[in-house]
Amino acid sequence: MNNETPFKPSLGNLSAYSVDVEFDGVKLNQNELPLDVPQAVKEKIIQRLLNRQWNRYPPLAPSALKEKIAAYTHFPASGILIGNGSNEMIQTAILACCDAGDTMLTVSPTFSVYSRVATAMNLKQVVVPLKEDYSFDPDGLVEKAGEADIILLASPNNPSGTVLEPAEIEAIADAAKGLVVVDEAYYEFSRLSAQGLIEKYSNIVVLRTFSKAFGAAGLRLGYLLGAPDRAGDLEKVKLPFSVGMFQQTAGDVLLDELNRDIIDTVIAERHRVFNVLDQMPGITAVPSRANFILFRPEVMDSKRLFNQLKNDGVLVRVYDGPQLDGMLRVSIGWPPENMLFLDKLRRILDEVSS
Ligand code: PMP
Repeated sequence: MNNETPFKPSLGNLSAYSVDVEFDGVKLNQNELPLDVPQAVKEKIIQRLLNRQWNRYPPLAPSALKEKIAAYTHFPASGILIGNGSNEMIQTAILACCDAGDTMLTVSPTFSVYSRVATAMNLKQVVVPLKEDYSFDPDGLVEKAGEADIILLASPNNPSGTVLEPAEIEAIADAAKGLVVVDEAYYEFSRLSAQGLIEKYSNIVVLRTFSKAFGAAGLRLGYLLGAPDRAGDLEKVKLPFSVGMFQQTAGDVLLDELNRDIIDTVIAERHRVFNVLDQMPGITAVPSRANFILFRPEVMDSKRLFNQLKNDGVLVRVYDGPQLDGMLRVSIGWPPENMLFLDKLRRILDEVSS
């Protein structure tokens, strides 16, 4: 037996995706909705599951769920593709567009799954850095768009919370030779979408998820909006049956039960938390259109602050790397959670400056 790794060399450049999923305290590190799905809604989902046949494969393209997503998004069902979280849609889009050596264009910093898939597939990665204030550089993206086989853009972007305006995406799509994937995982918090461009630009697809505003990250359900031909071609690459009957059933019920008041509260809290951070001496915060805020402690080491907050029962996300060194990201929680975070942060900073 050969003891050398059986895997391709590009895997040597990757480490496994890692994040603290469990935390016994105020968990503000994964941009989840702070409230669980209500018990009555869970029971409705389970009741429907009890009436389904578990020995049978689920529908390949669940038409009832697609129709509901069509009604929710005001987008034709024929252009909707359903997947196992938007992560699967990202992988599917890259698989459909690229062979090894092809070019993916994205920004930096952004959601790490794009470069993970690209690295595993040996793609050339062209990156247009965000500007110093973490806003996008649309001109830089337009300039590079003609080189790329696929362009991945999260708007709002994770971890910056900054957005591309539809007119900016239009200019990029106009200059692009390949597919333009607009990842709108945080759409419900920004209320800004590129979906209106799809009719004119069939090279645009939009990704959405149930993991954020629907409060169902545990479910693993996402979807794609695209021109019907494009969605149909992407379906050829997607793993069949990747969305099981649990997700299909739950998605169907959750679309009936979406609580827009929770989303409104999170948006209002984002404004409130940002204003407090913005006024806090020793903190620089990036204005966000999502359900999280990127910020920098100017007066202390970010990892020390992260650890102190964690010891105080508040888990946020800490970064390193070229453009994110010294930065932290806090997800917007429920009002008392945000109060606790701001209170602990203020105390820690007071202690450092006293
Ligand atoms: N896109 C972005 C920009 C994200 O931040 C995330 C989650 N962190 C995802 C996609 C993944 O979402 P899902 O849970 O639907 O796979």
